Amino acid sequence: MQRDPLSILQHVFGYHEFRNQQAAIIDTLVSGGDALVLMPTGGGKSLCYQIPALAREGVGVVVSPLIALMQDQVDALNALGVSAGFLNSTLDAGRARELEQQVRDGTLDLLYVAPERLTQARTLELLHQSPLALFAIDEAHCVSQWGHDFRSDYLQLSLLHREFPQVPRIALTATADPRTRQEIAERLDLGGARHFVSSFDRPNIQYRIERKDSARQQLLRLIRNEHAGDAGIVYCLSRNKVDQTADWLNQQGIAALPYHAGLGGEMRARHQQRFLREDGLVMVATVAFGMGIDKPDVRFVAHLDLPKSIEAYYQETGRAGRDGAPATAWMAYGLEDAIRHKQMLAQSEGNEQFKRHEHQRLEAMLGLCEVTQCRRQALLNYFGETLEQPCGNCDTCLNPPQTFDATEVARKALSCVYRTGQRFGVNHLVDVLTGNRSDKVASAGHDHVSTWNIGGELSANQWRAIYRQLVALGLLAVDAAGYGALQLTETCRPYLRGERSLQLRKDVARAQTRSRRAERVPVTDAERPLWEALRACRKQLAEEAGVPPYVIFHDATLLDMMAIHPTSLRDIASVSGVGDRKLEAYGDAFLEVFHRYAS
Ligand code: ADP
Ligand code: ZN
Repeated sequence: MQRDPLSILQHVFGYHEFRNQQAAIIDTLVSGGDALVLMPTGGGKSLCYQIPALAREGVGVVVSPLIALMQDQVDALNALGVSAGFLNSTLDAGRARELEQQVRDGTLDLLYVAPERLTQARTLELLHQSPLALFAIDEAHCVSQWGHDFRSDYLQLSLLHREFPQVPRIALTATADPRTRQEIAERLDLGGARHFVSSFDRPNIQYRIERKDSARQQLLRLIRNEHAGDAGIVYCLSRNKVDQTADWLNQQGIAALPYHAGLGGEMRARHQQRFLREDGLVMVATVAFGMGIDKPDVRFVAHLDLPKSIEAYYQETGRAGRDGAPATAWMAYGLEDAIRHKQMLAQSEGNEQFKRHEHQRLEAMLGLCEVTQCRRQALLNYFGETLEQPCGNCDTCLNPPQTFDATEVARKALSCVYRTGQRFGVNHLVDVLTGNRSDKVASAGHDHVSTWNIGGELSANQWRAIYRQLVALGLLAVDAAGYGALQLTETCRPYLRGERSLQLRKDVARAQTRSRRAERVPVTDAERPLWEALRACRKQLAEEAGVPPYVIFHDATLLDMMAIHPTSLRDIASVSGVGDRKLEAYGDAFLEVFHRYAS
């Protein structure tokens, strides 16, 4: 076995060089120090402990709450020729004993353990008798009582420091905020650890937020035009909508599975398993489909409903493109989303301070939807990071939204709310402004108010867009009673009086937006047959080995191969993601595909 980290990277994993801080993190551990690592999803955290575990004597113990994924992680390591195993409740006693012997002998490189298993006396005894390379504590934010993923078992992990003071420890998380980082350091007794905080940018993800007009059709266009045959996740707010959307996608010929808490554990597990193992399935899910979606080749994440915060949005969209190949984070958003969230919040349990806090987070999310500058700059800025230049890979960069001086129309819209008594929803207000004498307008006598029919310069849809932005900007509030009535806020006063000017976004028709969309589908039509053949080859190898296709090679590796058109095993060896073992096991099969397609 190679002992030098760089040669392990190249020969075992088949990668050419370390990314960002990987080398420094690995050095810290190899020389016996502790590390606390904050890196976004897809940043490459696993190598940070896998390579030191191989470089140092003894077994690397990885603590992870994601029992369902351990088998796949172990399979992936075995495919690389690394000896790895897991200890959790799914393992029978005989196999566990075998594994424990390998740990004692120091012949195992990596051992994955669930936290509750690790802290059992029997496991601790085993570890005391064994040579240990390191402890890696994955998903370390699970120690945080404030997060959604709190696990009480994680609090016990501080005992590692007391019981094994000589063994280096590394804690890893993709949760960005400083408070969580502080908590991890304290609760895991990592006072002496070096902190490695990476940029949270995910440059391969293209962020896009569209106006919602017929969300399903918009989703269908996205999948058909840009992501045909790709794996993706579609998030919806309610279970009902998840079921309906999945049914509908299947009717349209797109293979989709539902996932939500109402489905029962067995069906959920089955759907998750199929999503991981089969190529090109779409998972339609509520946020219950969450942590531990370790599938590297999710090519798009679509939101049919607004997430409640930027934190949630970033975490959910972050599940796209972990393999580094291009991916899309797409959302359809409308006024009704903003209204529904505000109502849910107003009616929710919780004290005033909690609600105020949640309200601020919602406002920030709405702000992101309406932003006219680079979305990535806005996103990173929210997490306290500065991106100097606009990114060039988000919708606002690719199609800079036009803004216009909306001072006068905003004044009309606000004043219509005032004149009708702050008791009506957006449709009614638009009827009044555009002079549409509906029954409701007539019975309320609103065809006599001063704002009746003063809005002829804009269409009904354009007025709705104005109201949407006024709500998003916090100039209008939504009533708590639940009827969706719009009400004036303190902030709107200067605008209502025309004392302050206002720029708003022009909602451009989509046809126009699309024509300027950057070409970003990684595979051209001419390459598609070859691409499909490579995927078929991968699928067959995966089935033979009983592992998910990405355990054979990631999409990024196949794309790399396509780019160089290998004609020899040596060419294949130069592709990123092809290490010694995989070259030997799969090189010929893929070479054969290229021979068939060479012309
Ligand atoms: P995380 O756990 O941070 O979400 P992973 O460890 O799963 O990320 O890595 C994400 C992807 O990046 C994987 O496909 C991994 O193989 C790949 N990767 C990691 N480090 C490198 C590197 N130095 N060069 C090329 N690819 C890498
Ligand atoms: Zn941008």
